[in-house]
Amino acid sequence: MIVLGIETSCDETAVGLVDDTGRVLGQGLWSQIAAHRPYGGVVPEIAARAHGDHIGACLDEAFRESGLDRGDVDGVAATCGPGLIGGVMVGAVMGKALAAGLGVPFVAVNHLEAHALTVRLLEAVTFPYLVLLVSGGHCQLLIVRGVGHYRLLGTTLDDAAGECLDKGAAMLGLPYPGGPALEQAAKGGNPHAFDLPRPLKGRSDCAFSFSGLKTALRQRVEALTVHGPLSNAVLADLAASLQEAVADVVADRVAQALRMVRDDPNESSLTALVAAGGVASNATLRARLAALASTWGLPFKTSPPALCTDNGIMVAWAGLERLRLGLTSPLSTPARPRWPLESLAVESGN
Ligand code: AMP
Ligand code: MG
Repeated sequence: MIVLGIETSCDETAVGLVDDTGRVLGQGLWSQIAAHRPYGGVVPEIAARAHGDHIGACLDEAFRESGLDRGDVDGVAATCGPGLIGGVMVGAVMGKALAAGLGVPFVAVNHLEAHALTVRLLEAVTFPYLVLLVSGGHCQLLIVRGVGHYRLLGTTLDDAAGECLDKGAAMLGLPYPGGPALEQAAKGGNPHAFDLPRPLKGRSDCAFSFSGLKTALRQRVEALTVHGPLSNAVLADLAASLQEAVADVVADRVAQALRMVRDDPNESSLTALVAAGGVASNATLRARLAALASTWGLPFKTSPPALCTDNGIMVAWAGLERLRLGLTSPLSTPARPRWPLESLAVESGN
């Protein structure tokens, strides 16, 4: 079975082709970073237009790379939410049109579900597992019980971890997008040089909060730049301290989720700790999560950075997982700016 996936929910225009053995057959990806850089963040109107302009070329690129014809595709999956609605509509309409034209099933994919299932494209991770989803727009802990079956343990009360890193990096004068630049700048810095807050650390639920950490960093930077710009050494210390605070607080929240699952008689034992989303590419965070998983006797699984950030392959894979269970979507499926994962089981009736 070969499935085409389309992703347009944020700032990557992406198409992927995968088969049921998890082989990536082809992909096309247009990153809009350059278009948004002058504004220091994703501008929804610019993103929507850029998706419309580039989706055709991404599609051609994926088919060219795979050597397949349009007629070889057994199903078309597209992200139908959550995300920036103008962009989601571009991908959803393209996916529906292709499915209708080719006479194959359409699968409406939830963007968060795609992140949560990506690890299974790489290896046979069995249910249930715990997913930490950390990206530019999302910060959540989920139990993945099966395709379409998710329990949300906790989410952020304000910003996502990626938002905190991106805005923190901007305060330090680093280029957009900030996460990778901050990781680079932190090399050689002292992660304990600045005592930044750890919001919600030790709390008995699995919520996250990052806005206070952002504010604390801004106050430090303002105080340090009163008499001139930051030295490279201080910049490295600030970057390392912010990265450490984020990793520390995320690891604490994950540990809390593991305790909650262990102490809940209605939950089965987890098979793995999985990290997904762009921020999961961060080496400091990965090391912390791997160490945590090992103290719990769990394997730690994540994907290469290209599959952590948004891409079409993860959407194709989620589509394939649904399709092989017979879960297809009507062409009337709406594009949604908000689409909680926990509503999926009800909608698909499984
Ligand atoms: P996504 O929203 O999944 O496309 O991922 C984009 C987010 O991941 C942005 O907030 C990036 O700054 C962040 N990100 C990407 N690579 C890294 C990295 N190496 N370290 C920290 N954050 C990262
Ligand atoms: Mg993105």
